[in-house]
Amino acid sequence: MIIDLHAHSTASDGTDSPAELMAAADAAGLDVVAITDHDNTGGWEPAILARPEQLTLVCGAEFSTVVAAPTGTVSVHLLGYLFDPQHPAIVAEQSRLRDERLHRGLAIVAKMVAAGVPISAEQVLDIAGGAPVGRPHIGRALVDSGVVSTVDEAFGSYLAGRGPYYVPKADTDLCTAVEMIGAAGGVGVIAHPRGRGEYRALTFDRIKDLADHGLGGLEVDHPDHDEAERAELRSIAARVGLLTTGSSDYHGHNKVLRLGQETTAPETLAELISRTSGVIVPVGPGDSPA
Ligand code: AMP
Ligand code: ZN
Ligand code: FE
Ligand code: FE
Repeated sequence: MIIDLHAHSTASDGTDSPAELMAAADAAGLDVVAITDHDNTGGWEPAILARPEQLTLVCGAEFSTVVAAPTGTVSVHLLGYLFDPQHPAIVAEQSRLRDERLHRGLAIVAKMVAAGVPISAEQVLDIAGGAPVGRPHIGRALVDSGVVSTVDEAFGSYLAGRGPYYVPKADTDLCTAVEMIGAAGGVGVIAHPRGRGEYRALTFDRIKDLADHGLGGLEVDHPDHDEAERAELRSIAARVGLLTTGSSDYHGHNKVLRLGQETTAPETLAELISRTSGVIVPVGPGDSPA
């Protein structure tokens, strides 16, 4: 069983449409794939409609959250699985974040334009194609305009968190987001908890507290984690009773990763599903779309 629980489509900042993502997952030999676009569930329906018989689809999203830490606020990504996408708190927060992403994306572009970087707001919005705006969309505009040669290169310079054009966005409080996903019948798993500076906020005590508030697991096997980080996270998860998942965080050709590069054990997926209310069930062979 090949299970990959974290993948992006054009509903956020991936380059495969939800239907293309289903085909790519099938072609990569996956048995289960989760669609987890940033801050929205717009890819669920087209993915459900395009899913090949033999592929099980887990519907989810990657929530942008923040945690206070001694060094300032730290950005943390939270994967939510199998929650009710119509839950009022989720609908309201995702709509707020969509606006927030739009204004923040336009503010980054305005700074670049003021500095003479040859891109435009119209170009970036066109690339985003209606999806909540993310830095990778701006990165593609920078590539298209010949400013950099890859999106990855853009993240090392023009889009860097400490770079001159960076503008933060007001994300959801992490613990609030964990509770919101639980209230909507789903389960939360912290995405890449050691990927990009999250260690400053995600201490053992904080993770234990989140587990007490209903967090289901930690994404341990992620391309951004080295062996020492994986071992540390596995030990924390064992001590506080959290599940450990693995996933690629596939973004199509915005990132150099392949589907199924990191995987989750079947028993872990079964356990995760058992912690959801079943409002939305994964669509497997023979099931009708929820
Ligand atoms: P944002 O959510 O707008 O702050 O942008 C962050 C997004 O950029 C996340 O989805 C990351 O997966 C993606 N990202 C981060 N670093 C890179 C990189 N080096 N190349 C491509 N995408 C990246
Ligand atoms: Zn992304
Ligand atoms: Fe992420
Ligand atoms: Fe992601």
